[in-house]
Amino acid sequence: MDLAATLAPLHNFFLIVSFVFGALVGSFANVCIGRWPHGESVISPRSRCPKCKSLIAWHDNIPMLSWLLLRARCRNCGLPISWQYPAVEFITGLLFLLVFWRFGFAAASPIYMGICAALVIVTFQDLTDWTIPNEITFPGIFLGPACALIGMTMPETSGLRVTDPLDALAGLFLGGAILYSLDRITVLLLKKPGMGFGDVKLLAMLGAFLGWWGVLFIVMFASIIGTIAGGLTIFYFRNKADSPGEETAESDTREEDADGISLQGHYLPFGPYLALAGLLYLFVGPEMIQWYIATLTPAPLDAAL
Ligand SMILES: [Zn+2]
Repeated sequence: MDLAATLAPLHNFFLIVSFVFGALVGSFANVCIGRWPHGESVISPRSRCPKCKSLIAWHDNIPMLSWLLLRARCRNCGLPISWQYPAVEFITGLLFLLVFWRFGFAAASPIYMGICAALVIVTFQDLTDWTIPNEITFPGIFLGPACALIGMTMPETSGLRVTDPLDALAGLFLGGAILYSLDRITVLLLKKPGMGFGDVKLLAMLGAFLGWWGVLFIVMFASIIGTIAGGLTIFYFRNKADSPGEETAESDTREEDADGISLQGHYLPFGPYLALAGLLYLFVGPEMIQWYIATLTPAPLDAAL
């Protein structure tokens, strides 16, 4: 009897363990999101309230629970604590639980938990600071092909999406090349600011872990999600501008306003869409592609009759 079969009765217990472990990693992710943009160490000093600078006791730093028990306020100064902290902890916990549920006791699970935590950090740092941390993308670009190399020697049950180092390298270069050329085209032809080099490195990293099929899937789904989210954002700001009580802009200048909103006033980061599409591929991407190809393949004639 192998290890997985022995531990099968404890499946639900390990789902909970995965969630708790993810929430603790999420707590550390919050530190990274807050400190990396300022070039600060994530090891020391200990966490302080961003407003009154008082040290946070360990019992006031328990993922999600402390935020709820303190009613989202600092114990010392009483000023509000952002909902972002418990949200990052909950999302990371949920993703770790999903990884265990999807891949179980497999070599892929700890690797994919790491990718999930990395993508949560990328998403929230891009939303708050408009940057994607090199602390994530640089190691990721090397670790992706390294995992594929080790995956070569493992049985199929490892759960790894990519066990062929050539596929990892193809994903790395295709991911980098697609966004790099898109960035150049935007700058040279449209004379608009491009998407930024952080996104290029992020897709290269995702390609290094998920292969070149993964890159194509991620580009397509990130664009779809981005278009929907971008449309909703512009719609929201237009409605806000049209709401009564505010000076209504003349109808002929409104088109220009909308253009300005999408590019400068309310910059739309692309990193979160790449991260979301990357997670989608990680969990169900290859299965979705197989299903799609199967529906395109015509059924045998005798089956149709
Ligand atoms: Zn405080």
